[in-house]
Amino acid sequence: MKDANCIFCKIADGEIPSIKLYEDKNFVVIFDISPAAQGHAIIISKTHAKDLFELPNEYAANIMVVAKKVGSALMEALNCDGMNILQNNGEAAGQTVFHLHVHLIPRYADDAVNIKWNIGTADQEFLNDLSKKVEEKIAKHS
Ligand code: 5GP
Ligand code: ZN
Repeated sequence: MKDANCIFCKIADGEIPSIKLYEDKNFVVIFDISPAAQGHAIIISKTHAKDLFELPNEYAANIMVVAKKVGSALMEALNCDGMNILQNNGEAAGQTVFHLHVHLIPRYADDAVNIKWNIGTADQEFLNDLSKKVEEKIAKHS
């Protein structure tokens, strides 16, 4: 499936040219245009899905394998110290392009990349209740 107005559909199609680090039947991997660090890459699905929750299972099942393959090659090529593999769903979560993608962000000791949150305290009562609700919803969907 393609969306004629989607920039990542156009990149995945080759309609907009880019350096492809990797390509298979379901994904292309390109460099991010505004990288958090040099070598920051994004895995883009060849089908248009707004986010992970709309991504067909055959793609979802394979995307981490691609992250592992390309991510480890990138780490070796850059000789970086670590890598954040992250994926944003929804504007509130920082998503800005509404076509599924996974970020591969090379990390170095003492670099300036900031992917952190303030740590909180777990509320056991809330979590007991939440786990029951989630279990019910999973059962309904499967
Ligand atoms: P998000 O914030 O949705 O998780 O990530 C979108 C990413 O796509 C951003 O890091 C942004 O820099 C990148 N991006 C947006 N437009 C383009 C583009 O046309 N080409 C490339 N290579 N990256 C893009
Ligand atoms: Zn798209």
